[in-house]
Amino acid sequence: MTSTRKMIRHYGIRPRKRLGQSFLQDKNIVNKIIDTAGIVPGETIVEIGAGLGIMTERLANLGARVIALEIDPSLAAVLKERFENSEKIEIVQTDALKYDFSGIHPEGGREQVKVIGNVPYRISTAILFRLFEFRRNISSLILMFQEEVAQRITAAPGTDAYGIPSVMAAMFARAGIVLTVPASCFYPVPKVTSAVVKIDFLERPAAEIADADLFMRIVRIAFAKRRKTLLNNLRSGALPDLSEADILEVLQSAGIDGRRRAETLSAPEFAALANAILKNRMLER
Ligand code: SAH
Repeated sequence: MTSTRKMIRHYGIRPRKRLGQSFLQDKNIVNKIIDTAGIVPGETIVEIGAGLGIMTERLANLGARVIALEIDPSLAAVLKERFENSEKIEIVQTDALKYDFSGIHPEGGREQVKVIGNVPYRISTAILFRLFEFRRNISSLILMFQEEVAQRITAAPGTDAYGIPSVMAAMFARAGIVLTVPASCFYPVPKVTSAVVKIDFLERPAAEIADADLFMRIVRIAFAKRRKTLLNNLRSGALPDLSEADILEVLQSAGIDGRRRAETLSAPEFAALANAILKNRMLER
């Protein structure tokens, strides 16, 4: 029996599906995942959903300071007991979606933290968007997702998986799948394969954007109805301050054909579109 299963039995835990509780039981995989993070002693890692602490323990052994977030009070209690004597590990019982990643003060003059986690399916996109909002406080993300979510983050324009997460990742980061993890590495064994994505935030966006929030808003609007053209999505009412004529003008000045679909636009093209919209608005005033 693996130590994961022993722990589950020992602590009388009944894994909760709703919280995506599927624990890694293969230490080789744990080591491989953490190797991709390139841990430097003394750096601060925030771990999302620490579970029984299999990754937490490894991170601390490598000399990292770990802030381990866990939403489930019974697991947080297990973690507190297990790591009671470890100065490097801090357990925070909280919802990672509500955690303030800008409030951490990393040691040794560093300004940014790394975020690691085996992220439950239910919160995968929400946590991704939230972490991107805190990109100034984070150097990189090493996150395990269901494989299809990982593919959506790293997809190229023109592919089925390409969507809002792909554009966001291409704009603000360099992202790639670094490892796929078979279901058998977990207990309970899930139905799907997982994949680890490494996301390194760029110091500057991949293309110039005058307003990052507007950029993200335009991307969302463009993808609102995937099968509609860009023009139709833009004039659907989501941009009430732009007339039909404004929309046509904006598309033209960005050099983008409105008959295209959002899934064919690269991140720099979305940037050109958002910048043109901003410019149009300023002229109107
Ligand atoms: N990292 C551990 C556990 C993975 S299972 C391992 O690899 O073995 C996912 C964990 O995330 C569970 O412990 C679950 O309770 C926790 N979790 C689920 N939703 C969460 C949320 N919103 N915030 C923090 N933790 C969460």
